[in-house]
Amino acid sequence: MNRQTWLAGVDVGGTTIKLAILTEEGSFIEKWEIPTNTAENGHYIPGDIAAALKDRLASHQEEFSVLKGIGVGAPGFIEADTGFVYQAVNIGWQNYPLSERLGRETGVPVYANNDANLAAAGEMWKGAGKGAPNMLAVTLGTGVGGGLIAEGRILQGAYGMAGEIGHITSIPSGGSPCNCGKTGCLETVSSATGIVRLAMEKVHHGESEGLKALFDDTGTLSAKDVFDEAEKGDAGAEAVVEEAMYHLGLAVGNLANSLNPNVIVIGGGVSRAGEKLLRVLRRHFDRFALPKIAAETTFEIAELGNDAGVLGAAWLAREKTGRYSS
Ligand SMILES: [Zn+2]
Repeated sequence: MNRQTWLAGVDVGGTTIKLAILTEEGSFIEKWEIPTNTAENGHYIPGDIAAALKDRLASHQEEFSVLKGIGVGAPGFIEADTGFVYQAVNIGWQNYPLSERLGRETGVPVYANNDANLAAAGEMWKGAGKGAPNMLAVTLGTGVGGGLIAEGRILQGAYGMAGEIGHITSIPSGGSPCNCGKTGCLETVSSATGIVRLAMEKVHHGESEGLKALFDDTGTLSAKDVFDEAEKGDAGAEAVVEEAMYHLGLAVGNLANSLNPNVIVIGGGVSRAGEKLLRVLRRHFDRFALPKIAAETTFEIAELGNDAGVLGAAWLAREKTGRYSS
């Protein structure tokens, strides 16, 4: 039996933990999820992950020793070298030695990183950024996540904080409060939450017949509804799309001027708007990016969906443990 030839990728979210067992080449052997037990500040999570992996390996007549490494992503501030979580609010971890705990449970080397960084790495390895050594990944979901890939590696910064593009200040004075404690962050206007908030303002001010009709009908609005209504020519929805994409284009244009990515990958729920989103974003981006950068940077919609995190986590374990087993 070949030893240490598989990788595990784990993506810890606030409600579910996604797990995968993969070959070194990144083909899925198993992919599943378990609920996140946030009781006692996430104390049980490493044990739950270990038990889930152990069970699934047993179904292949394998044990932990078949794993070269385990990569783990979580939403929070994580020191990459040690896998120490400073804070992951949705999980409950604070000053939590994640890699050490999961390593103790499994006896396998564990490498942890921020989930948005790993989603970016996943897209670089197997998705829309495939083969691009310099990549900026933006996840437009409940918040705005970011991952920066520079010369084939995750850009970490001094404390693992690099890539927090959701908290670029977009509205310097005033602006809405952000979860981070500041106001006017990019994610207050360009996330799904931000877009819906702006859309609801239009509804309440009687500035969008299309959105009002949808809201009256269904009692809810999504970012995709806003893009769809804008496409139909609803002036209020168009204004929301313009505002959200103006701020995103400004932020991403300036980032591109600093980082010179080959490709910018847009993911998350809002990216379901696809070409409608890229067209407006591109127009604003082109205004703020240097001419050569505007001419040569490509935009792609993320391809991996919910698999990006576990693939990126497996990629991290593969990078850290060396590409080929002896
Ligand atoms: Zn913020």
